[in-house]
Amino acid sequence: MTDLFNNFLAWLQNTMNYKYETKRIEFQEDVGDDVDRVIWIHELCECPEKARLENYFPPLIWTVRFKPAVMLGELIHIALEKWSLEYTPQIYHKTLDVDGERVMVAGMPDYVSKACDAVVDFKYSAHIGQEPLQHHVLQVQLYMWLCDVKHGELWYFTHDSFKSFGIDIPLSDENVMQEIRHRSTPRWPEWECKYCEYRQLCRYG
Ligand code: SF4
Repeated sequence: MTDLFNNFLAWLQNTMNYKYETKRIEFQEDVGDDVDRVIWIHELCECPEKARLENYFPPLIWTVRFKPAVMLGELIHIALEKWSLEYTPQIYHKTLDVDGERVMVAGMPDYVSKACDAVVDFKYSAHIGQEPLQHHVLQVQLYMWLCDVKHGELWYFTHDSFKSFGIDIPLSDENVMQEIRHRSTPRWPEWECKYCEYRQLCRYG
């Protein structure tokens, strides 16, 4: 690899690191004592064991971020952030009382338009099915709830196609509380372990 290309990859990794780690850490440091714990929306859509392993072995996250598909996905995110000029990605949050515990639910949607009453999540994928994937639908529904908008969209991109789906079934506070209460390992037993990057380390996988 050339030095110039290495520089580009380092820039991309730093960009992702700032967006997905530094901003979240800074946010959590400012959370008040009236909150018992923070849970991120992406954590509600995946196996809780993944977060535990990432905490235990932080370099694991880098093995995921250096995957070409993940880097290509981030390049699409960067392009779409340029398109959505009126919107700068930011962390939204709401706090719920879940069985006596104050739980803050936080997330950074890819795109929010209050004018269109909508959130959009962008996905780079190997292929696009007839229907959006269930964990992606749940993620958009959680963002709709978090941002108080009525309409959600998923935009899929592959190397040679793209497709969008509308999602208009909102979640209530009670639905979100159920997601927090009943997290299972894995979250999606039919397929999640099969595709999990942490399978070799996992006590369940
Ligand atoms: S292998 Fe399965 S149980 Fe283990 S972290 Fe991955 S998804 Fe979760």
